[in-house]
Amino acid sequence: MKPNSAAARDIAYHLHPATNARRHEQIGPMVIERGHGIYVVDDQGQEYIEGLAGLWSVAVGFGEERLARVADAQLRKLPYYHSFAHKSHPAVIDLSERLVGISPERLTKVFFTNSGSEANDTAIKLIWYANNARGRPEKKKIISRHRAYHGITIAAASLTGLPPNHRLFDLPLPGFLHVSCPHHYRGAEPGESQEDFATRLAEELDETIVREGPDTVAAFIGEPLMGAGGVIVPPRTYWEKIQAVLRKHDVWLIADEVINGFGRTGRMFACETYGIDPDVMVLSKQITSSYAPLAAVLISDEIYEAVADGSAEVGTFGHGFTGSGHPVATAVGLENLNIIEERDLVGHAAAMSAPFLDALHGFADRPLVGETRGAGLIGAVELVADKATKAAFAQPGATGQAVAEACHREGLIIRAIGDVIAFCPPLIIEAGEIADMFARFDRALSQVE
Ligand code: PLP
Repeated sequence: MKPNSAAARDIAYHLHPATNARRHEQIGPMVIERGHGIYVVDDQGQEYIEGLAGLWSVAVGFGEERLARVADAQLRKLPYYHSFAHKSHPAVIDLSERLVGISPERLTKVFFTNSGSEANDTAIKLIWYANNARGRPEKKKIISRHRAYHGITIAAASLTGLPPNHRLFDLPLPGFLHVSCPHHYRGAEPGESQEDFATRLAEELDETIVREGPDTVAAFIGEPLMGAGGVIVPPRTYWEKIQAVLRKHDVWLIADEVINGFGRTGRMFACETYGIDPDVMVLSKQITSSYAPLAAVLISDEIYEAVADGSAEVGTFGHGFTGSGHPVATAVGLENLNIIEERDLVGHAAAMSAPFLDALHGFADRPLVGETRGAGLIGAVELVADKATKAAFAQPGATGQAVAEACHREGLIIRAIGDVIAFCPPLIIEAGEIADMFARFDRALSQVE
């Protein structure tokens, strides 16, 4: 590494998120300089297919001029304004209306944040505030799931069900509970059907709520299809059974659509894909194709009315960010939604799902592959030491890392989540590009087999 190279300066000055810092000191960064379509290019001129759309998020692909133009125009016209104390601006009003218009019927109001983590913290705070305002101060516990990923701020990280987001952070906070991950391949009893597994998990949720006391449990949060915990597709009938339990105990449902939203599962929202009727829906990532940081929390009228009453009692709703509904982010979000609708990228994702899943499932009989799974344009290959016993590797994550490195050599960026290889390409991907992506993966996997 040259002393003043970008890589050396990155090591010297930059603490990376979600990175082993000591390992980073040894191997340094992959410096990405530009992107176009489904590709990004590093500072050595090497081009890669971005098989994870950045962080599951660049729906319209890299280098979309329309988003650049809208951001430029908004920066010139009104670079910043806020929504505190009755202020507003056209982009935030337009995007609020558009989001409510496309969201599940019961969701009627939007609160904006900068990130998915802040959005989940906001969802929890709204629920606590609403329950206090409704005279139910005991109803505060939140139930999440092992292997969930809901972000890393203190409440969001407490919702997250992954050890690296808890260890050494003194998390999760009390009052945040985790029930089983709905992963049939790993969690089902021998011979248990998807439906029976779903029934058992719904019973576990029921028992958990009864044990804690329904009057103390405020909400259940779930990604309709789990993403960062390893791309877990819910077993058949899971969501209808979970929702029946929640309704029985008057527990609100938060659908975290931060990865799923805006077409990822082949419908605008995965709530449609899985028949979910949430009280709160959280959106981010593809909301702007991550061209600008933005997230949104949509709430039902029931929650809104309680919050509105509370704010009247207190004198204000004492929550909000400087960047809530930022003009540039909301303008980019609107144009991104225009692109998604005009190009029917949701229909395109649905149409591309068959070639994507066919190619993905084509790896099922490879020696290192325990399970292939996916929906829409998101999927994963789980690597195992022993296909028959499903035994994991003695050194967890090392094989996934080796595959990720081989993918880089083949010009493909994917995400190794331990020994699970995740695919989540930009929604604009075409059939030929899907074939190319999996051909590169095939060559990479062969290097490790
Ligand atoms: N929720 C889900 C489902 C996510 O996948 C993520 C990020 O990957 C988050 C929340 C947190 O979003 P952010 O990284 O913008 O805070």
